[in-house]
Amino acid sequence: MSTVIDGKAFAAGLRQRIATAVEEIGTNHGIKPGLAVVLVGEDPASQVYVRNKGRQTVEVGMDSIEHKLPVDTTEEDLLALVDRLNNDPAINGILVQLPLPKQINEAKVTNAINVDKDVDGFHIENVGKLSIGEDSLVPCTPAGCIMLLKNQVGDLTGKNAVIVGRSNIVGKPVSLLLLREHCTVTIAHSRTRDLAAVCREADIVVAAVGVPKLVKGDWIKPGAVVIDVGINRIEGEDGKNRLVGDVDFDAAMEVADAVTPVPGGVGPMTIACLLRNTVIAACRQNGVEVPEVVQ
Ligand code: NDP
Repeated sequence: MSTVIDGKAFAAGLRQRIATAVEEIGTNHGIKPGLAVVLVGEDPASQVYVRNKGRQTVEVGMDSIEHKLPVDTTEEDLLALVDRLNNDPAINGILVQLPLPKQINEAKVTNAINVDKDVDGFHIENVGKLSIGEDSLVPCTPAGCIMLLKNQVGDLTGKNAVIVGRSNIVGKPVSLLLLREHCTVTIAHSRTRDLAAVCREADIVVAAVGVPKLVKGDWIKPGAVVIDVGINRIEGEDGKNRLVGDVDFDAAMEVADAVTPVPGGVGPMTIACLLRNTVIAACRQNGVEVPEVVQ
């Protein structure tokens, strides 16, 4: 039987280390990191994310500043707010919750954020730095995947990694991070031929697709490690909604060495990595070394 990778427990441990780091930079350098989260509109899922981010930010000892704007906010007004936050020394990290209403150009807003405060890691300059292997603020979900993998596997050098999905927010950054760990990386997508055969070659499978249980048990090489990023809401046999990933979890558990569950796998890592990025950003902006506990 394979191991269930407990992302919830790992994220809790990471948040504890972040709290220690926040205390350390507060005591030694008088820094209290501040994270500003901007929510435009009333999308229920986004409201939940923003509430959780705010709560966890405060729990690790940082300042949380929330800006809630009406759904008809203009691009100009949002850019003006981003500009104010860019110039506010009490704010070390800025996150504009996506998706944005259609009158606002997401790329324009993302790239208006000060690159050093871009804790989502979506600014074109951070994306470029990641792709050439320079130090940058790394997107949170991909960073969480790598932490879980390294914790499970140790050294990833030489492993065959197949990433299913090539989105800018998950698939591509995960691929670049695995390349940085010296994996041999294959990126699969909707036009990939014989996806099952491609996956069967993998020591590591990362599924970031958005199709419930796409990855079957017999696509997985015995002993592989499977990271399931997918979050899909489906109706269960009892008529109630439940969350499933992009991997057929029960079948994968029969063959893999270890699998992340949904929920409780990658999901909890995203906010923990956002908080970590905020600490890193605050340290860099103040010319202070990032405490070892969160490196
Ligand atoms: P996107 O829709 O942006 O990208 C999906 C990718 O999957 C695309 O590259 C697409 O290929 C590929 N794809 C779609 N169908 C197939 C198929 N049948 N076979 C092979 N590849 C396919 O999704 P995201 O990357 O934003 O998100 C992926 C999943 O991860 C979602 O379930 C999302 O909810 C979840 N997620 C979870 C997060 C978390 O845990 N915190 C954070 C972000 C996302 P193509 O490019 O050819 O269209």
